[in-house]
Order: sequence, then C-alpha cells, then structure tokens
Amino acid sequence: MAKVDRDPIAAVVANDRGEIFDLDGYAAVGMAGEQMTLLQAAETCKMPYGSELMRLPDRRPIVFNRSTLEFEVLTENPMLPGEAVFPVAAFNSPGYILTHVSAFREGPRAGYLPLFSYGAVGWHRGNFRSAILQVDREPRQDLRQMQRRDVAAGVRKMRKMLPGNRLRAHLEHCALVYGCPAGKNFFLGRYEAPLPTSRYCNARCLGCLSLQPGERVSHCQDRIGFTPDPEEIAAVALAHIQRVRHSVVSFGQGCEGDPLLAAEAVEPAIRLIRSRTAEGTINMNTNASRPEVIEKLFAAGLDSLRVSLNSARKACYEAYFRPKDYRFEDVLDSLDLANRLGKFVSLNYLNCPGISDSPQEYEALKSFLGAHPVHLIQWRNLNFDPRRYWQAMAAVAPQGPPMGVRVLLAELRRHFPDLRYGYFNPPRERFHAPPAPLEL
Ligand code: SF4
Repeated sequence: MAKVDRDPIAAVVANDRGEIFDLDGYAAVGMAGEQMTLLQAAETCKMPYGSELMRLPDRRPIVFNRSTLEFEVLTENPMLPGEAVFPVAAFNSPGYILTHVSAFREGPRAGYLPLFSYGAVGWHRGNFRSAILQVDREPRQDLRQMQRRDVAAGVRKMRKMLPGNRLRAHLEHCALVYGCPAGKNFFLGRYEAPLPTSRYCNARCLGCLSLQPGERVSHCQDRIGFTPDPEEIAAVALAHIQRVRHSVVSFGQGCEGDPLLAAEAVEPAIRLIRSRTAEGTINMNTNASRPEVIEKLFAAGLDSLRVSLNSARKACYEAYFRPKDYRFEDVLDSLDLANRLGKFVSLNYLNCPGISDSPQEYEALKSFLGAHPVHLIQWRNLNFDPRRYWQAMAAVAPQGPPMGVRVLLAELRRHFPDLRYGYFNPPRERFHAPPAPLEL
C-alpha cells in the first residue's frame, strides 16, 4: 500500500475517441522498471510548451486509487463503466528528461510502441504536469521561436543562395515535412545546423530513427538517400557559419546513418570549411566506432565529438546498439583519443528511468567517467518502447531497484563536480563554461 501525502496529481487517461481527461479519486503514477511511484506536484513540472500527449493503444493505465490506497490497473472508465480507457504519455519538449515513464500494462495484442519517449503525466490545478527535469535552459529548439512562415522565408532565401545544392534541398524536406527543429534552425539562421551525409551505419540500434528492418517498429524519417559532395556540405556549413554568431554545424543526424561511414565526403568537407573560415564549431554526433577515422577528422578541423551511449555497460550497449563490425572497446578508444587530443567531448546518454537510474548502471557510469572523462553529458530521452527496452536490458544485465533520476544526477555531480549537464552541442565559445547549478 502506498501513502497519499503531500500533493499528488490527478491521473489522466484517454478513451477510444482520443479524448483525454482526468479521473476523480485517482492519482497519477509514474513507472521506472517495475517500480510504481505516486506523482507529486513538487516532483513534476508544468508540461513544457511544444510537448505532445499520446494515447497508448492496446495497453491499460496504472493509476492510484485514493480510496483504497492501492495501485490499480484500469480496464474501464470507473466513472463510465463499459468505456475502455487507455494510458496517456507525454512526449516532452527538448531540454527535459524523464524521471518516470507513463505507467501501463500491455494488453495481449500490444505491439511495439512507435519511436518516442513516453513520459508520465497527470493533471493538477488546471495544467498537465510531466515527470521531468530540465537539463538545458537554452531555447534552441523552442517551437515558439520557429514560426513556419519564417522557416519558409529562410527556405526561399537559401534556394537563391545555394541553388542546385542537394543537401540544402534535403534539409528543406527535413524542416518542412518532418518538422525537424535542427533543419528549421538552419533556415532560420539560429544556433546549430545539421549536416546529414551518411547512408550507412555499422550499428543496428533498437531505436534507430532512420532505419528499421521489417515492420515491427516504424522509423520516423527516411535515411538520406545520397551522399552529398564535400562542396555541397561545405557550402551549407559556410552559409550557416557566416550568418550565425557562435554557430555550430553538426554531422550525425536522425535522418542518416553514422557519419564515420561517410568519411570520404566528411573529411574533405571539413577541410574545405576550414580553408575558408576559422569561425564556427564543427561537431560530429556519432557512435564513435572508428577511432582511426575520428583521428583524421580531428586533423582536418573537427572541433567536438558527441558520442551516443545507452549504457556504460558493455552488455547493455551491445544489446541496444547491436554493433556489426566494431566493439564497445572501440568507442572507449575514440573517447580516449579525443581526450588525448584535448578535444571537447560529450556523451549523448540515452535516459530511460528504470535502467539508467538502476544502481548497477550508476556504478558502471561512475567508473566509466572516471576512466574516460567527458566534458558534458547531454541527457536525452530514449525514444523506444520502455517496457520492451527494460526486457531487452534485463535479459543481459542485472537491473536493481531504481535510485531515481534526480538522485542519479545529484550523485554523479557530487563525484564529478566539473561535469556539465545539458541537452545541446555547445559552440566552442562555451567549451569552458562552468557547470550550471543543479536545480533538482
Ligand atoms: S548509430 Fe545512429 S544511425 Fe546507426 S543504427 Fe544507431 S541510431 Fe541508427
């Protein structure tokens, strides 16, 4: 039996018409692995602007009955017996990480959920509240600053500036059809511009956004179907660098494979950019599987590296990334290389409550960071069905009762006081900024 204390928020569910409503007498519950937690107002945030609510099909919501003081799996609307109800989850805006996922049980027909994160959410005093923490305050991907008419004006301008450039045309599709915030920022002339280049990857991530074999999981965006020429890449990068103060241009996007597998285009592109300007930050988001290629890219002028990891444990990493022709140790070698060369290194650490905050993962991450230091952890939400992810991870490594994402961040900060947390790739003007105080 759980205790109802402080200020719990109300449970929200959806009916089969997609209407979302709160349930009188029931409190919202968050899930981390098999651990259920009653969501309190003080440990949640007003759902950030730009977040979206989703109804989870073929699943039953877990809520907390305030009369019986028990967790309950709802099979129907208690206010309207006979009406089926479904769990509701929030896909929160960039800059926030989940502390709990939406609490649900799968029904017998449940398939894989699409590639989103499924944050716990409830209703309190006229607002939806999400079980999240803010890790980056920069409005880089704030949709209020990305009006469609402004993006369209930027598209027209870039068409004139870069006619015939296939990468520019690809980014138009990203910005206007997929609504990609990084693509929009290129046309708006803000912050970070994407430089997708690679058609191939040497991993097979369970949650790869650009390629999913079979029909079990649908991918969100088509992988780029050509390799841009170095001249096309450099022209897009230079157009951004020349008009944006403290700009970042980044290889390694959601609509491509891994950029290390397009090094034959990336390396000369970096050289071309650097032959024209010393301004701007050239960054690469990558699986870091090929240290020998990364060394050449650094020599060409790459400024920073962001390495993706779902786990600091080899077994969990391999179960998620499913490397084809490299080893976890190659990733470690890349981090060590970047450190030896004095380059700025981030982790793109894929957070999923229940695994990321298990005591085993925390201990592994602590040892990992001690041996392979990074400047910044970019905390990102894993976009994958949480229950299927827990099953996949529990099959390869022990996952103890979660310590909580707040505790995880606080404990890591205690051990590594210089380690920064964030969400976005910083420009090099901010490589040496001190860590922001933790507001947990
Ligand atoms: S490393 Fe990136 S591109 Fe490669 S499979 Fe994983 S998510 Fe997809």
